[in-house]
Amino acid sequence: MADTKTIQFRTETQKLLHLVIHSLYSNPEIFLRELLSNASDALDKLRFLSLSEKELAREGREPAVTIAADAKEKTLTISDNGIGMNDEEMTENLGTIARSGTTAFVEALTDRKNAPELIGQFGVGFYSAFMVAHKVRVVSRKAGTDAAFCWESEGEGSFTITQGERSEWGTDVILFLKDDSAEYLEEYHIRSLVKKYSDFLEYPVRMDVEKKVPTEGEKDKYENKVVTETLNSQKAIWTRKPADISDEEYTEFYKHLSHDYDTAFERIHYSAEGTTEFNALLYLPARMPFDLLMQGDRMRGVHLYVRRVFIMDDAEALMPRYLRFVKGVVDSGDLPLNVSREILQQDRILAKIKSNLVKKILDALKNRLEKDRAAYSSFYTSLGSILKEGISLDYENREKIMDLLLFESTTTKPGETITLAEYLKAMPEGQKAIYVLAGNSRKELENSPYLEAVAAQNYPVLFFTDPVDEWLLPSMPMYQEKPFRALDKGEFPAAKDEKTDSQKEEYKDLLAYLGERFADSVKEVRVSARLVKSISCLVADEYDMGAHMEQLMKAMRQEVPKNKRILEINALHPLVEKLRALFAANEKKELADELADALLMHAVIAEGGRLENAADFGELFSKLLLEHCTLSV
Ligand code: ADP
Repeated sequence: MADTKTIQFRTETQKLLHLVIHSLYSNPEIFLRELLSNASDALDKLRFLSLSEKELAREGREPAVTIAADAKEKTLTISDNGIGMNDEEMTENLGTIARSGTTAFVEALTDRKNAPELIGQFGVGFYSAFMVAHKVRVVSRKAGTDAAFCWESEGEGSFTITQGERSEWGTDVILFLKDDSAEYLEEYHIRSLVKKYSDFLEYPVRMDVEKKVPTEGEKDKYENKVVTETLNSQKAIWTRKPADISDEEYTEFYKHLSHDYDTAFERIHYSAEGTTEFNALLYLPARMPFDLLMQGDRMRGVHLYVRRVFIMDDAEALMPRYLRFVKGVVDSGDLPLNVSREILQQDRILAKIKSNLVKKILDALKNRLEKDRAAYSSFYTSLGSILKEGISLDYENREKIMDLLLFESTTTKPGETITLAEYLKAMPEGQKAIYVLAGNSRKELENSPYLEAVAAQNYPVLFFTDPVDEWLLPSMPMYQEKPFRALDKGEFPAAKDEKTDSQKEEYKDLLAYLGERFADSVKEVRVSARLVKSISCLVADEYDMGAHMEQLMKAMRQEVPKNKRILEINALHPLVEKLRALFAANEKKELADELADALLMHAVIAEGGRLENAADFGELFSKLLLEHCTLSV
């Protein structure tokens, strides 16, 4: 070939180049990631080819990437001993974007000013070098050949190709840095970028660094010496076979990722094959991770890699919020390397990966729940409240998440819990719903009048003592086709319907009278089917907020909607029966009024509420007691 060949970039490449340089990346530092990734790909390719072409597998030739900074020349060189390129390949690979649809794509891009993110769909990695360099030279020698070539461009409209020289197969990418990019020559800067973006590249990334070392044979004397250091840890353990990885290695990697001093509660390591292919190594912490409390809205659990190159560590598109405690790595070969955040949000491949990961995590938790209840319970105590959010956020997996819930119940000892499935199993015949009662503590709930009727029928009741529980109820109407019923809300289905029907008739006038008397404070007065011992209680209407929820909202200084309660009176109670008789006979009007007021006040207190007129209650209470004493002595 002629000494120098000048070739124009293809039009769409030129346009793309322009976009890359001027508007693509807000953080130019990623150029290093892109070039290291290309180098790593080149090493991958050679490794693959040498499997079939034995002459390419040379003894003692260790695949590696080298970074060299030259402060005088202001150049940064990234070298690899990978597959290399000949002149044609350089023209093809570095001079054109040889992909179908590129032209249309670039045109669409130029029309839309704010579309540079879209460009990430294309592998424009190499061109990112022009964000920091005013000139780029690539010297390459294709593996298995003797000739080397040199590609050079200022990223303007053309590039040149000349004969080059290289002692070994592989590629050097030499960046002539712009004045404002001189920072990339500094050792610590390069070091930190490699750590940040390329730590887990499988091949060593090396650099010669100057170090103070003790002078040989002379005490207390030091000299500067150039030593070669590997900058990355190379521990891409997620790409290795689980059988080849020791527990210690897994643990070390978890600690590296999480900064947790504890070991993980569970790890999930698998590679998915089929339509989407990826490796995932995920860890569930044993306790609430410290950073979870600190991170606010940002999720930083799962790191996304594309072919072992780090892309981001806060990919919400990868893990739903309710699993934000999960740590780990997902490495996919199906995604483009410089995929942008915006694209990630809508990417179909990523959506598939996400749903696969979620399934795996939920399955793993179920497995632990079944096989190792104590450890699961301890995990659940720390992180259950976050996991539960999924019930209202992840419709598709709602049942699966519900399988993982634990509650104390009227049938468990304090501190012990059951699952919903276990609850269903323990239900006596005839029980149609899952009964729950929300409150601050088990102790408070155990003595609640709302339990009376269900207890009489031996129906177990779940205690909702986590503040989140009650919020979730509207999102979980059913479990295995059994509806949930909050005992302090709505009508309670009576055990014997006829009785309530006849009672309704008998009590009609009294109820009407009470309804009128308490019109300001209650919505309705009715005969209760849920009480056995207590004389009265207040319940919320089916779709209104319960008393416990109101308390929680008030504690959080939230506005609470003004909903009146329903007053239920217990027709089985002698005092209530007495009131009915008094009222029917139209006798002792004053006593009837007093008894009626006592019913309402009792109900407020039983609900855990505060009486607005506590002094009146005191007066009424002692007056009634006094009358009672006079009667019976
Ligand atoms: P992508 O890596 O997404 O294909 P790039 O623009 O980064 O896009 O690179 C274009 C092509 O140039 C690569 O596909 C590869 O064929 C070639 N290439 C880049 N860097 C190297 C290298 N260090 N060694 C060999 N080939 C390379």
